Amino acid sequence: MDSDGGSLWHRITRFFNAKGSDNVEQAIIEASHEGALQAYEGSMLLSILHLDELQVQDIMTPRTDITAVDSTSSIARAVAAIAESGHSRIPIYLDNRDNIVGIVYSKDLLREAMLPENHSKPVSSVTRPAFFVPETKNVLELLNEFKTKKTHLAVILDEYGGTSGLITIEDVLEEIVGDIEDEHDAPKEADVTMLENGGALIAGRAYLEDINDALGLRLESDEVDTIGGLLSHIAGRLPMPGEDFILKYQGGEAVFRVEEADSKQVHKVLAYKLEPGQNATAAEGGGPGLAANAGPGAG
Ligand code: ADP
Repeated sequence: MDSDGGSLWHRITRFFNAKGSDNVEQAIIEASHEGALQAYEGSMLLSILHLDELQVQDIMTPRTDITAVDSTSSIARAVAAIAESGHSRIPIYLDNRDNIVGIVYSKDLLREAMLPENHSKPVSSVTRPAFFVPETKNVLELLNEFKTKKTHLAVILDEYGGTSGLITIEDVLEEIVGDIEDEHDAPKEADVTMLENGGALIAGRAYLEDINDALGLRLESDEVDTIGGLLSHIAGRLPMPGEDFILKYQGGEAVFRVEEADSKQVHKVLAYKLEPGQNATAAEGGGPGLAANAGPGAG
């Protein structure tokens, strides 16, 4: 065994003799620094160690992004939904998305769809049972359940039994190895795009912490995670395109203008900082209390 291997072996023995994950983490970091582990190997090992700190709601595909079809849909309709979305499994619901009753697999549909007379049959005839988990389920536990249940997709329920989202084994794997792009994945738009004029175009789904990192702000909320959620929370309703929200932070003000929104979601927000003394009247109309939701910020 070479000296690196020897030193790594030493460390591994120490991992298992050591009590607590802090020691293990420390040993991985040291091994990475010393070159006994490649940086990506170290980072994967650290991610695995942190899996049990994650709940499924932290990494799920949210309900609004789920492709699903009504249980009364025909097999032809389900085939079209699968073809359009590029997903190989889609939930089937009764009446509305809060009532998911099963999952349909593309391979089952393919078999049925080979006979044209089956196209008008209801998709419920090829639906398999769904596996449901609560939002708070630990991701490591879920991984074990995926293994034992031999199913790799779970529907996530909120505390009232409504649908909160969906998670597959790929979402868990991505936590360890980083983003995995499928053949059919459309290139993702960046959540925060800096503009030449110093402003930023922000996706409604962008996390406050990512916006803070990009713009040097300190937005915080106990209630919501995303900028779309924050603006809706402040307004007490879904804000309309063109509405401005003034955010005060230590040393200045920033304006968040809703660029695109529909009756369900804020899609795009334009953000820019106001220069000291610059009149913010053009940006008025934001809900009162915006400043109260902003943490004392950097500027
Ligand atoms: P697929 O290849 O069928 O898309 P994966 O397990 O590779 O399934 O999942 C890739 C990503 O797509 C994951 O983020 C997962 O949560 C998401 N996903 C899978 N099925 C659906 C669906 N029916 N609707 C929305 N998102 C889905």
